[in-house]
Amino acid sequence: MTLQEQVNQLVKQQMTEWDLANKNYSALHLVQTKTLTLNSDESVLIQFNPARAISSLAKIDPKSIAERPCFLCKKNRPKEQKEIDFLGKYSILINPFPILPYHITIASKTHQQQELSENSIKDMLLLSQQLPEDIIFFNGATAGASAPDHLHFQAGKKTDLPQSLFEPCTTRTKIIFESKNIEELTLFISKKIRQQQEIAPDCFNLFCSWEKESWKIVFFERKKHRPTQFFEKKIMISPGAIDMAGILITTRNEDFQNINSKDIIDIFQQISINKN
Ligand SMILES: [Zn+2]
Repeated sequence: MTLQEQVNQLVKQQMTEWDLANKNYSALHLVQTKTLTLNSDESVLIQFNPARAISSLAKIDPKSIAERPCFLCKKNRPKEQKEIDFLGKYSILINPFPILPYHITIASKTHQQQELSENSIKDMLLLSQQLPEDIIFFNGATAGASAPDHLHFQAGKKTDLPQSLFEPCTTRTKIIFESKNIEELTLFISKKIRQQQEIAPDCFNLFCSWEKESWKIVFFERKKHRPTQFFEKKIMISPGAIDMAGILITTRNEDFQNINSKDIIDIFQQISINKN
């Protein structure tokens, strides 16, 4: 069996056998969504997903992080959560609080910072090659990672993410790059991360996808995680990778009902590095 087949099977099994996963994936089928048009070429999907409040509103300051048991460390994970090994270094797990109908987390077996070294970039690229149905993504420690202290990737099915992900857009700053050469791509991503460190350390979201013979990546350059609307409690939105891709998660009904295109353009502008 290929790794993809094993992971698909794991996800299927966990959705039926693990009550929490079953409940949250079933609820995801019922979540409300709506599409908002941002301009002639771009639109986003708004998802009302109250189960994500735990992650969206999570305290991510270093003190709160240090005080909570790390939910990605094996010793703290629910016993129902099964895993598949990757490279002897990572555990592939179902995400029990999904945004996507198939949503996995690939957690390092050791508790270490959410930072990408050249080695972990390569691991991410190899993973996407072995999961060709999926898009692998990474939230920088200050750009939406709910465990900034534990190295992890996530993945969803290509068919569940917006098709515009790998296309240029004007409402946020994204770098698109394609290569057949893993060394070249690793150096490119490392360089982008180093440049990002000078502006807003670890404030980026990265996607990668294996397309037949080459990798495609998208790197969202960010300057902050949460917009002013979040701190003013006007719109409780905490954008991570999936939001940047064009699926914005709201956890309060009032935000889902009231949010409009102008808000979203403003939020993207506040959190993206402005190139102009
Ligand atoms: Zn941990």
